[in-house]
Amino acid sequence: MLADSVGVPDPSCIAHLHCPPLVPALAAETAIAATNQSLDSWDQSPAATHVERRMVDRLCELFGYGPGGDGVFTSGGTQSNFQALLLARNWFARERFGRRVKESGLPHKSKSMRILCSEAAHFTAEQSAAHLGLGENAVVTVPTDDDYRMDPDALDATIADLREREREPFALVGTAGTTDFGSIDPLDSLADRADEHGLWFHVDAAYGGALALSPAHREKLAGIERADSLAVDFHKLFYQPISCGAFLVRDGDRFDLIRRSATYLNPEEADLGAPNLVSKSVQTTRRFDALKPYVTFRTLGREGLAELVESTLELADEVADLLADAPDFELVNDPTLNAVVFRYRPEGVGDDRVGRLNAALRAALLRNGDGVVGRTEVDGTTSLKFTLLNPKTTVEDVADVLDAVRNRARTIAVADRTLRR
Ligand SMILES: *Cc1c(COP(=O)(O)O)cnc(C)c1O
Repeated sequence: MLADSVGVPDPSCIAHLHCPPLVPALAAETAIAATNQSLDSWDQSPAATHVERRMVDRLCELFGYGPGGDGVFTSGGTQSNFQALLLARNWFARERFGRRVKESGLPHKSKSMRILCSEAAHFTAEQSAAHLGLGENAVVTVPTDDDYRMDPDALDATIADLREREREPFALVGTAGTTDFGSIDPLDSLADRADEHGLWFHVDAAYGGALALSPAHREKLAGIERADSLAVDFHKLFYQPISCGAFLVRDGDRFDLIRRSATYLNPEEADLGAPNLVSKSVQTTRRFDALKPYVTFRTLGREGLAELVESTLELADEVADLLADAPDFELVNDPTLNAVVFRYRPEGVGDDRVGRLNAALRAALLRNGDGVVGRTEVDGTTSLKFTLLNPKTTVEDVADVLDAVRNRARTIAVADRTLRR
């Protein structure tokens, strides 16, 4: 199995938001498995329950939530985004239509309910809408600006258009770190719109949430503290083994919208006021993933973790410069985080062939074990992507991958006459 696995710490494994895990977190992972605590009731996880509570409190502080904040650990951004839109749907149906969705199902007007996010948002907004009985067509995407951030003027126009057609926008999803470009929506402007129009404001910070650690970069998340809810993943830029994420809400009472009690887990009037975590999660049996970031923070400190993140942002800037200076490469984005999108485009390769060439290159690099490089479409053209999460990767390592791209391009051009210049 190992022989045919991707080597996540390898400097040429730079496709996805897929990190090499930290050693302290691996030690914690062993303790999690060996002690096998389950967070669905206090009598299955007495200490673990309190450690998770404490981690959630510290995370609420990290993102600027007040004392009313609350949250729960999740399997990752998918589950966190789903929970956000689940709460948002139930909240809106109660406020707008007086409908208790948990008990009575969707309101008659559910067909008019709409979720707003940018064109560059993660697919889980649509997936959640589908799961929530609203259908994925309930998601309306708002155009982005040249830096792949939601355009607030376009958002205003989209909301006005929806109102005109008697649709009911109820949730606005901002992204702090889009999966393809690492771009961050203007969160403060989005929060203003959410206030003005009575929308639930969710921030998907699965990727970019780690910037909150860094005094130098946290300003980029300004406005995140105004979100009704947010998603943050630790198995990306916090270097934790999979799985590890959190879902946070600014007003913890909102969990009442999905409250549940099972006599065998959390009887009403639970013992000695023990926390009732099963009600906050869409899972029942649940891993003690909170121990991993807990041990990591205790070992490296917030500063130590921030330094790792900062070094990868510096690397991304250096790699962007390298690409911008190379005559045979084309840089697509100016990196905000550590995602760098680009194309291999030697002289003479026109618009018609560049997409096919880059798609073939990515496949050839993977097949030959040269590297795992990402792929995305930009304005309909296949492009390549580096997601530079590894703090040990150097600009020389990345230059080697670019050389591998050039070498593969030669063999592809020989094999495929249609790609020959
Ligand atoms: C990775 C990612 C997700 C999905 O999170 P998982 O942890 O893979 O479930 C959602 N949104 C964004 C922006 C992401 O980068």
